[in-house]
Amino acid sequence: MFELKPLPYAQDALEPVISAQTLSFHYGKHLKAYVDNLNKLLPGSGLEGESLEEIIRKSSGAVFNNAGQILNHDLYFGQFAAKPSSSAPTGALAAQIEKQWGSFAAFQDEFVAKGISLFGSGWVWLAAAPDGTLSIIQCPGADNPVAHGLKPILTFDVWEHAYYLDYQNRRADHLKALWGIVDWGVIEMRFA
Ligand code: MN
Repeated sequence: MFELKPLPYAQDALEPVISAQTLSFHYGKHLKAYVDNLNKLLPGSGLEGESLEEIIRKSSGAVFNNAGQILNHDLYFGQFAAKPSSSAPTGALAAQIEKQWGSFAAFQDEFVAKGISLFGSGWVWLAAAPDGTLSIIQCPGADNPVAHGLKPILTFDVWEHAYYLDYQNRRADHLKALWGIVDWGVIEMRFA
């Protein structure tokens, strides 16, 4: 049985970037539904007792979609902080970003541009290959780097349920605002 992972902050902690109302629906309704759905789908699937990552690698259809959305949201909600200690990455991650994009600002521009141009619902990811090479990838629906043999590092949710109550159709404004709450300490640990 999978459980709804507790948020590492209060539901109003990320305002005004993400409102308490958005968080209460996004976490308390959308993510909860993915958890409930997967728990209903798993019995008899042959995947009982497997980790989310294993289920994602081995499944398709509704099981993949619900397992993917649980992993994606756990990573998404787990990477924010009301007052991040740093507004940019440091150490090995900063060095790799600089090597591949030239600057952190250039990386941010490409990340947001790929979030804006993703058609419909999905996720934009920073992912790492086994050799440490980074890439920014667009994943439709519930797809994620794990399904492609890559390590998930950072993600922005571009499903409308992530921003519509606060930003309506202004996806670009929402994505740019998210930089203010990314906890780079968490992101660096994922890359390490
Ligand atoms: Mn979402």
